[in-house]
Amino acid sequence: MTIIPATAAAIKQAALLLQTGQLVAFPTETVYGLGGDATNDRAVAAIFATKSRPSFNPLIIHLPDAASAAPLVHFDAAARRLAEKFWPGPLTLVLPRRPDSPVSLLASAGLDSIAIRVPAHPVALALLQAAGRPVAAPSANPSGQVSPTTARHVADGFDGGLTMILDGGPCRVGVESTVLDLTTTPPRLLRPGGITREALEAELGPVALPDASELGAPRSPGMLASHYAPALPVRLDAIGAGPGEALLGFGPAAGASLNLSPEADLTEAAANLFAMLRALDRPPFQAIAVMPIPDHGLGAAINDRLRRAAAPRG
Ligand code: AMP
Ligand code: MG
Repeated sequence: MTIIPATAAAIKQAALLLQTGQLVAFPTETVYGLGGDATNDRAVAAIFATKSRPSFNPLIIHLPDAASAAPLVHFDAAARRLAEKFWPGPLTLVLPRRPDSPVSLLASAGLDSIAIRVPAHPVALALLQAAGRPVAAPSANPSGQVSPTTARHVADGFDGGLTMILDGGPCRVGVESTVLDLTTTPPRLLRPGGITREALEAELGPVALPDASELGAPRSPGMLASHYAPALPVRLDAIGAGPGEALLGFGPAAGASLNLSPEADLTEAAANLFAMLRALDRPPFQAIAVMPIPDHGLGAAINDRLRRAAAPRG
């Protein structure tokens, strides 16, 4: 892992790394991001592994311009208006996922929405342009530590896991982007940030705050817990499928309907988790039985997600 000044040549090299599924830290105007190809499940799983997150939360997808959003999400009139006014800039828009969206389901933690943003930083924009694909990028720090605003902060946080840190100097804003959910009426402010509620309301009319049930944990994946569950009941620690059950395997598994990772690789399992749950969540199956997953490394995040899916429904 090396810190490299963000010259044109370095940005080109970083774009090639992203295209081959590797992780690159890069500056934005808010904080440094830990970027990976958002269309590559393995790269997205590597982001979670590198950050040592105990659970999956949806990641912000970074784009070089508003036009690049069209294949990913339903970009409606309100989104266009906000994009014209605030992009590039510290505003993240949550929009409905297109059915044919190439973005990894793991990147949106299995949700039917995707959070997108165009950062106002010349290095970020040049990198996104050169990569030619959406880039998932949470803050480039291990889970639980403060967000990095210099390349040195990023390097200090990680022993390895990312291939390159593009140094573009200190971040200008230093706080995370405002997150606005446009999938509801009225739109909801999920996270305050660089763009104020007043500025948004001047464009859109009333903007709601999160529901009382979400307050206290508006940023946490728990807030979205109910959206994550498959429709079918989920049974954990299964050694085989019962009548009507799909079997989601892990490791060597005879008779698995699908296998998260025949080689018992937790990064591969994380990469497959949401797509496979969705694939099994339909007739002829009446329930999904999941084989045991070890609880270390990314296994902790996988098991957190599976326990939510298996919890009694309210
Ligand atoms: P970070 O990448 O650490 O800046 O955090 C991403 C923020 O965006 C978190 O608050 C997430 O909960 C939020 N977020 C990302 N995607 C979605 C989504 N599809 N729906 C709701 N919130 C999202
Ligand atoms: Mg963070």
